[in-house]
Amino acid sequence: MDTVPEEQLSQVEVQEEKVRLERELQEAQAEMVEIEKRLEYRGDYSLGEGDPAIHTWELNLALAQRLQEKIDSIHEALRRIEAGSYGICRKCGKRIDRARLEIIPQAQLCIECARERGK
Ligand SMILES: [Zn+2]
Repeated sequence: MDTVPEEQLSQVEVQEEKVRLERELQEAQAEMVEIEKRLEYRGDYSLGEGDPAIHTWELNLALAQRLQEKIDSIHEALRRIEAGSYGICRKCGKRIDRARLEIIPQAQLCIECARERGK
């Protein structure tokens, strides 16, 4: 018999989650290396907005920033796994719904508290 309710994460699942997050982190970091390579070519700003390389550069910069945010949030989730607070609501101490964690692994609030905060 499984004593852990369906919507909660067991220790085994937290470990699986950790493996998944570490893999995702590696992928994101590899992607970051690629984008940074592309960012090395800035284009010629003296040509003004006319140089399409500038547009590409700006796009890559935006991409790099989004990716960095993702990397940061994965780091945060991994820290919480290490601290044993992963998947536990910071505000009310209840477990965070599994479906919510799949979408936002770094979630620190359960859906009820997040809704409360959003009001
Ligand atoms: Zn809560």
